[in-house]
Amino acid sequence: MNPNAKQPFKIITIDGAAATGKSTTANAIAKELGFLHVDTGSHFRILCHHLIQKKITPKDPNSSLETILRSVPIDTEIIEGSAILKIGQELLQTKALRTEEINNSVSKFASMEPIRNFLLDYQRSLKTYTQDAGIPGMVIEGRDIGSVVFPDAYLKIFLHADEKTRIARRKNEGQIDPISKRDDLDSTRKIAPLTCPPDALKLNTSLLSLDQVIDSILKHIESA
Ligand code: C5P
Repeated sequence: MNPNAKQPFKIITIDGAAATGKSTTANAIAKELGFLHVDTGSHFRILCHHLIQKKITPKDPNSSLETILRSVPIDTEIIEGSAILKIGQELLQTKALRTEEINNSVSKFASMEPIRNFLLDYQRSLKTYTQDAGIPGMVIEGRDIGSVVFPDAYLKIFLHADEKTRIARRKNEGQIDPISKRDDLDSTRKIAPLTCPPDALKLNTSLLSLDQVIDSILKHIESA
């Protein structure tokens, strides 16, 4: 094989419930491969923050949400290898997106059709964005990435861990986060629920260290 031949653009999806280690794993894999890292959970959090500021609640009808979404000014910036969604010029820090209020409402907003459609279009557009930036691939994490957003991805990973371990992880981070409630809403909603794609590599992160998870994914990629 010609080593200079251009490799096809690759998308690696990482899905899983809250606190399964998706972000740290996706970030590390993206850095190792020189790919762009995309955290789609942050998209839902940023939009949720914006809507709360606009006094919108998940009880508002879809039609008023659609009107608001039509005029949401979005942009993308790459910061330290991760694509960050910006609304207007506002760049929110992780801490501002992990407040108790956002942790409590993000899954309710995420079950709404106008929000899912809006972010589905945005997330799919990131493929062209990444290609145009000359980056050879992306590692994109969330709940429905391998099943709905990029069902033809090169590689799909699904991370899972027992609930006790995941609750302890969030507690150690000092977060008040109703992860069991979020998981329940995320996996039972009608549109794009949290699910393990049948063709995904499934890893239990309560039994493995972070380095072991990253190592096994990289070994899997090398042997593919
Ligand atoms: O990953 P994170 O915990 O930050 O995601 C926050 C919330 O965003 C999830 O609980 C879920 O409701 C929503 N989400 C989603 N689909 C994705 C990513 C996140 O519905 N692809």
